[in-house]
Amino acid sequence: MSGRKGVTILGSTGSIGCNTVDLVERRPDLYRVEALVANSRVDILAEQARKLKARLAVVADEGAYGALKAALTGTGIEVAAGPGAVVAAAERPAEWVMAAIVGAAGLAPTLAAVRRGAVVGLANKECLVCAGQLMMAEVEKHGATLLPVDSEHSAIFQVFEADQHDKIEKIILTASGGPFRTKSREFMADVTPEQAVAHPNWSMGAKISVDSASMFNKGLELIEAHHLFNMPEDRIDIVVHPQSVIHSLVAYVDGSVLAQLGSPDMRTPIAYALGWPNRIEAPAPKLDLAAIATLTFEAPDPVRFPSLRLAREALRAGGSAAAVLNAANEVAVAAFLGRRIGFLDIASIVERTVAGVAHCALTCIDDVMAQDAEARRFASTIIDGGR
Ligand code: NAD
Ligand code: MG
Repeated sequence: MSGRKGVTILGSTGSIGCNTVDLVERRPDLYRVEALVANSRVDILAEQARKLKARLAVVADEGAYGALKAALTGTGIEVAAGPGAVVAAAERPAEWVMAAIVGAAGLAPTLAAVRRGAVVGLANKECLVCAGQLMMAEVEKHGATLLPVDSEHSAIFQVFEADQHDKIEKIILTASGGPFRTKSREFMADVTPEQAVAHPNWSMGAKISVDSASMFNKGLELIEAHHLFNMPEDRIDIVVHPQSVIHSLVAYVDGSVLAQLGSPDMRTPIAYALGWPNRIEAPAPKLDLAAIATLTFEAPDPVRFPSLRLAREALRAGGSAAAVLNAANEVAVAAFLGRRIGFLDIASIVERTVAGVAHCALTCIDDVMAQDAEARRFASTIIDGGR
């Protein structure tokens, strides 16, 4: 047996996935790769699997099986396809799993990793938004470890004195404000997908880039923080910090406010989770405070960005409200990226779906998936002009 940490990367071809591959590849002395999972990008997936000598490569899209098989012939790397194979990949023995599939599609495989007690680097925030309570209960039950990869939550995790939980007054999530931070609603009404995904500080996948532009990303992160750190909604603040240098803060009762800083490069929080409990080197640019010179802060604008109110309302409502909000947002973002709706329609579709779908208590994952499906149907009908 090698002493190397076994690693599985769910969503290896995405933005977080490729950054994780980059870090793993640098340290073959520390890591060996069990499985790589992607939706359909066979070319990138096969190249990663060869490079990292993965034992298994999986595509969720069954139609891509033949191409993946052909690309990996003669390598000895196992190949599989389909949603069942994605979950099976997460069940394989790897001490550390990166959950970096986008959206609620990541819930089942992330849970599979949690249920075998793995250490899970969690980028896939939608998992916690739609099933936070159930997920945290499973983590507890199976002795798994969730390490936040989202930069804000990694920051909080690094300065969060868990044994002083009752001495924590609040946590403060920073938000870049996205590409439309200073733009009017009139401007936002006509923006294109290209404008929305052009984030000023971070390079990310399309869905989270649109979420950053609408600030739904911060709304989802509020719900994520609530579950990860067991903090009530009214003790989680959001402050806009356009430089994205302070990644988030924790305020204690004695007036101390602890923050984590770094350049806006996801390889730092990914490296923190990958190396944990040790620190490993990451190739992110070093922070040069004198060159940055100025850090600024402003309150978010609830009128131009209704997403923050919608997320707070869903969190307060409890039950399935956040799962419905998340599913409606996924459908609306896809429709916006497909040029079927305008940018401002995203929030109104989410609001109408949360109001229109009857909420319920979530007692198991099947309940989550049923509410997710119902919300997707409802939001799609609005988009198709049926409501
Ligand atoms: P992305 O779109 O670049 O990548 C998504 C990955 O998931 C791809 O590998 C894709 O093949 C895979 N995938 C999609 N659907 C799948 C399915 N049904 N089954 C299996 N694999 C599937 O997205 P990203 O920007 O890397 O974001 C991934 C997650 O990390 C999201 O939840 C996002 O909110 C979160 N996150 C991303 C960043 C960032 O900087 N990109 C920062 C914080 C959090
Ligand atoms: Mg974030």
